[in-house]
Amino acid sequence: MEIKELETTLLEGVFAKAAQFGHEQIVHCYDEATGLRALIAIHNTSLGPALGGTRMWNYSSEQEALTDVLRLSRGMTFKAAISGLNLGGGKAVLIGDAKTMKTEAYLRRFGKFIQSLGGKYWTAEDVNMKTADMEYIGMETKYVTGLPESMGGGGDPSPVTAYGTYLGIKATAKKVFGTDSLSGKTVGVQGVGQVGSYLVERLVKENAKVVITDLFEDKVKEVAKKYGVETVAQDKIYDMDMDIYAPCALGATLNDDTIPRLKCSIVAGGANNQLKDEIKHGYMLVDRSITYAPDFLINAGGLINVYNEYLGGYNRERTYQQAEKIYDTCLNILNLAEREKITSQEAAIQLAEKRMTEVGRVRIPR
Ligand code: NAD
Repeated sequence: MEIKELETTLLEGVFAKAAQFGHEQIVHCYDEATGLRALIAIHNTSLGPALGGTRMWNYSSEQEALTDVLRLSRGMTFKAAISGLNLGGGKAVLIGDAKTMKTEAYLRRFGKFIQSLGGKYWTAEDVNMKTADMEYIGMETKYVTGLPESMGGGGDPSPVTAYGTYLGIKATAKKVFGTDSLSGKTVGVQGVGQVGSYLVERLVKENAKVVITDLFEDKVKEVAKKYGVETVAQDKIYDMDMDIYAPCALGATLNDDTIPRLKCSIVAGGANNQLKDEIKHGYMLVDRSITYAPDFLINAGGLINVYNEYLGGYNRERTYQQAEKIYDTCLNILNLAEREKITSQEAAIQLAEKRMTEVGRVRIPR
């Protein structure tokens, strides 16, 4: 590619998108020896350093990686703000095949890039990254969370994420059904990975009627057998009669195709970025009288877990206590949305931005 052409493509891509999403800084990291190609997106640091996981994915293009990191890091800003944490929003993506490229040198080189940002960005696990990878990254930077419990970290955040999601489902049930008991309610859980399977465990304990699906048949069978729940074919989950649809797989499952098919009163699950288009699909749910629990609020348990690690002296009890606040916050947001005649997603962003403005002005940087 000609230099002129390359320059134009890069500038248009990065700055136009930064303006669209409101980012502070986007860092490109490259290392020829290890093949490292990473993007670190710092969305907003008005409440504290940008903390968000690193995702490794074989993106089909740099544009796709850029869009992903920008969307995810913006979500982290709102997630931290609405959860009352003193953190900003950030995220990193590593472009490449996690199975073949993730060597010690590769991870440590990435750690060095994080260190060079001087604490403005803190990392943790995300898709295709494990606590063992955080250990290597942590050899080159102190700005890392998600370390194993044996190293003083908070370990796997998924049980806390599932707990917060469960409380969000209960709060939404309270708003819609007048009771937060899930006994006898049919809940369709899409994706029974880390978060989904812990959520199923809690729902079953409360005598909900759980129906699960996953891309992988063996996973479905394993979870169905363990908890004695029913299963549904992958694409049929949108068409089944249920009280609550709980997306716990990938993002954008609330879209033009799926929303008209949904036969439920509530959508509340652990997946990130569930609404393909925040505004359009938020209002499509309202029009169908389906109450939506904002994803970045009810799946904040994982962030609360790493936040407690970041504060130092990780304490599981304190972490779960903080996650319990999700119930009240969720109810407040649903009430605000009703009063203001806006979507719950808009109400959640409104509250998050209010805290960022008010607290961001008075807080003493740590
Ligand atoms: P995971 O990879 O362990 O589980 C995801 C599961 O979804 C997998 O079993 C996968 O096969 C399944 N899946 C993917 N596409 C599907 C489809 N179309 N239909 C049915 N099943 C499908 O991931 P996880 O850690 O459980 O995370 C799940 C979601 O929750 C993700 O969106 C993630 O970003 C979000 N999240 C996770 C945490 C956490 O603590 N792990 C925290 C916040 C948000």
